[in-house]
Amino acid sequence: MTITPEREAELLASVPTGLLIDGEWRDASDGGTFDVHDPATGKVLATLASATSEDALAALDAADAAQGQWALTPARERSNILRRAFDLINERAEDFALLMTLEMGKPLAEARGEVTYGNEFLRWFSEEAVRDYGRYLTTPEGKNKILVQNKPVGPCLLITPWNFPLAMATRKVGPAIAAGCTMVLKPAKLTPLTSQLFAATLLEAGLPAGVLNVVSGKSASSISGPVMADPRLRKVSFTGSTPVGKRLLKDAADNVLRTSMELGGNAPFLVFDDADLDKAVEGAMAAKMRNMGEACTAANRFLVQDTVAEEFTRKFAEAMSSLTPGRGTEEASTVGPLIDSGARDDVHALVSDAVAAGAVAVTGGEPLAGDGYFYAPTVLGGVPNDAEILREEIFGPVAPVTTFTTEEEAIALANASEYGLASYLFTSDYARMFRVAEQIEFGMVGFNAGVISNAAAPFGGVKQSGLGREGGSEGIAEYSTVQYIGIADPYAK
Ligand code: NAP
Repeated sequence: MTITPEREAELLASVPTGLLIDGEWRDASDGGTFDVHDPATGKVLATLASATSEDALAALDAADAAQGQWALTPARERSNILRRAFDLINERAEDFALLMTLEMGKPLAEARGEVTYGNEFLRWFSEEAVRDYGRYLTTPEGKNKILVQNKPVGPCLLITPWNFPLAMATRKVGPAIAAGCTMVLKPAKLTPLTSQLFAATLLEAGLPAGVLNVVSGKSASSISGPVMADPRLRKVSFTGSTPVGKRLLKDAADNVLRTSMELGGNAPFLVFDDADLDKAVEGAMAAKMRNMGEACTAANRFLVQDTVAEEFTRKFAEAMSSLTPGRGTEEASTVGPLIDSGARDDVHALVSDAVAAGAVAVTGGEPLAGDGYFYAPTVLGGVPNDAEILREEIFGPVAPVTTFTTEEEAIALANASEYGLASYLFTSDYARMFRVAEQIEFGMVGFNAGVISNAAAPFGGVKQSGLGREGGSEGIAEYSTVQYIGIADPYAK
């Protein structure tokens, strides 16, 4: 389908531009606004209300006021709201996909993939909502009964990044609704439009006023600061960079808030000489190029056994150079722009540093001329093991390849990072798969698979990649707290 300027304008006009507080779309208390840009052209797409600290606290007032009744709402009703929202988003999948392409830049095909993936969290948690079991047992000495029940944590602050505008919100909002928590959602200022449309869809699905409040704005800390200092808040769930996560963990300590932290990654991609190299290249393309490399799960360090490194690098470079950069709305585009000029400069600085240290750009290696913040899909061969590019999260379409000789060396290189989110392993040896998985310090391992995110799986990291899990049966536990009731047994002797 051709995307006309009229279609874009019509969709953008349907997105609410206010702050969502207590079920109403409002202007900011000081009338402030901020612009949202198209990273493929640099042009303004929309202007939204910019929340002040006062607005943020009004959102918390609404969440706090709604919490009591929401916790008592039967799980089946909460589940039905999630399921209706899932159906509505499916009906409007093209709108959500186009909106994400416009504000974030990813090609439409990828944005459609994110709608499917992100929406699945609503369906998954609509099913989990009614299966939140407690337990009842007798104490070992037989005098008391133990009743254990899960309760909602209470009002939550949810802070999301710009790279997956729908999925990062549904991964938090889905389980929070399922568990019976109310929320203040603060989307990233670069891509807030999808959250606005998502919140409007949840209201239409029957979410009561005050359960979800959305406050975007120019200054993240003037929104999160007062909300986190307020004793009515019980939890902060954050997805974003490790430095900001650390800062929020310190702030959370003052009120001993529950925290979930989905932070940065530096995924190793291990290729052994017994791997199917064509499958490994296919996996490498998925693990590297999903979201133009702007993903916490993006393969960042390609560690290839020396006997197959040359062949793997050549095939990988061929696949990378066959991609077509372009605005995500263009049919032929398979790589969108980076999110802004700063992001593109950071990627290029890492590439230049690696080349200066002896790496060779087998393909790419430069920003692309013209409008938008495009960077050529790049494969760097012969990257020295101490290069900066192997330590930093690249967040762009650049694949540094380095080599190893033994399995032990591969594991040591993979673990030589302060991050521990996703990792990938390509080998035909299942015994090796288990050996490596045992020893690798990562929350997730993709075995002969370049994409591993799924609503049914516990997504999350170890070390400085964060705390907690999103998705799976673990996801709802992040929004639940356990209460134990000790009951005197009237029949006990
Ligand atoms: P970021 O700069 O840390 O921002 C993330 C969110 O935090 C945004 O909403 C941002 O608001 C807000 N924020 C920034 N400074 C803040 C402060 N001082 N106090 C409170 N909130 C603050 O990260 P990003 O650049 O958007 O996202 C990229 C990072 O996210 C990468 O490191 C990536 O690995 C990580 N990520 C992790 C996962 C995961 O599941 N582990 C998933 C996706 C992304 P503004 O937009 O207003 O600045």
